[in-house]
Amino acid sequence: MTASIDRTRLAELLEAERTAFTQRNPASAAAHARTAGHLLGGVPMTWMAKSAGPFPLYLDRAHGARVVDLDGHELVDFCLGDTGAMAGHSPQQTVDAVQRRYGELGGATTMMPTEDAGVVAAELSRRFGMAQWSFSLTATDANRWALRLARSVTGRGRVLVNPYSYHGSVDESFIVTGPDGPVARAGNVGPAYDVTLTSRVAEFNDLDALERELAHGDVAAVLMEPAMTNMGIVLPEAGYLEGVRELTRAAGTLLINDETHTISAGPGGCTAAWGLDPDIVTLGKAIAGGIPIGAYGLSAELADRIWNDPDTDLVDTGGVGGTLAGNALCLAAARATLEHVLTTDAYERMIQLAGDYTLGVEQLIARHDLPWTIAQLGARAEYRFVSPAPVNGTQSHAATDIELEDYLHLFLLNRGIYLTPFHNMALMSPATTSDDVALHLEILGAALAGLPLH
Ligand code: PMP
Repeated sequence: MTASIDRTRLAELLEAERTAFTQRNPASAAAHARTAGHLLGGVPMTWMAKSAGPFPLYLDRAHGARVVDLDGHELVDFCLGDTGAMAGHSPQQTVDAVQRRYGELGGATTMMPTEDAGVVAAELSRRFGMAQWSFSLTATDANRWALRLARSVTGRGRVLVNPYSYHGSVDESFIVTGPDGPVARAGNVGPAYDVTLTSRVAEFNDLDALERELAHGDVAAVLMEPAMTNMGIVLPEAGYLEGVRELTRAAGTLLINDETHTISAGPGGCTAAWGLDPDIVTLGKAIAGGIPIGAYGLSAELADRIWNDPDTDLVDTGGVGGTLAGNALCLAAARATLEHVLTTDAYERMIQLAGDYTLGVEQLIARHDLPWTIAQLGARAEYRFVSPAPVNGTQSHAATDIELEDYLHLFLLNRGIYLTPFHNMALMSPATTSDDVALHLEILGAALAGLPLH
């Protein structure tokens, strides 16, 4: 029998960590009180209101794998901006490139191209194998635009996603499987259309369901992460991704790999690491060292079809594009980050550290006899309160335990470790050290030793 948790005692422990958090962070509390008045939800972005503590920690500064909050606590950062700072905070080569572009040369946004764009596109092609690239400011927009292109070129209306995937605020993606068929995911804000009319849904790792849904013949594209990363990490079972590729090809449906998070798997994401062959790859977050950017890459054949499609207006107000997209500043940052920071050597070290982290957490889980599992995807690892490991998003969602999660997050935060909020995810950057991993294991070990188990 594995251990279960005494919920009454857990609630008391959580309250004690909340009190400790409040006492430890008076400057953040004061900043929140001063600044919240004119901000919707009291925060610059509404999801920041969902923090484990009674108020969010306010940032003072961040370098490498460290953030320093307003009370001067230096935290080991395994959140890394939920991947946006996977290159580490403000790596020097990216800082230099940004200062040169924005300060010395000038011209963040001029409506004129720079050579950096071509260099970045060539490097992304080398890494991911996609022939032609275009840029956005976020991964959300890369996905939105990729979907528009997919619908345009296939002449089909629907998009298929996996339940409990996340691809940014993309309307078509908020669909899950209910007991009586597909339904909108709970909490979907003001949808433009009923998502069951725009989308189809099939569980990750379920090729039969995918085949069934594609048989309707109306799916323009499957939009998926090669490994799910937004409801814990759910890894593909042997043969699944090959099956997805075969079924999509047979159905005339395009395959979009969203590698925004799975770029943790290696310099060319899962696409290169696992030899995948999608029609489109979408990216964002990490590739410009924390400066906003998104990108989508197309296979040569698809790029040709899209560019030569007389009905697709790519050069005017056709719904694909933005004034600031492809700007000189973002691309200078991306070039420096790809050339000098997120290098193959850096990945080797990051993946090694994530392996040590995973092994350490596995040992703790075994020592405390917990029904938990941990999954690693290259430089990223995440534990989940369920065993065996979930094979799809719905199973993983069912294992959510917010009280336990909040307790562990606050326990770690109060002792100098910053784990990704809303996840139990740790990401390694080129600046992360084995001492950082060891410190996390020591403190997580203390948290688990104190869990009220019976
Ligand atoms: N794709 C994936 C897989 C993501 O995890 C996210 C955000 N977590 C996005 C796209 C959207 O990224 P952004 O919010 O930066 O647009």
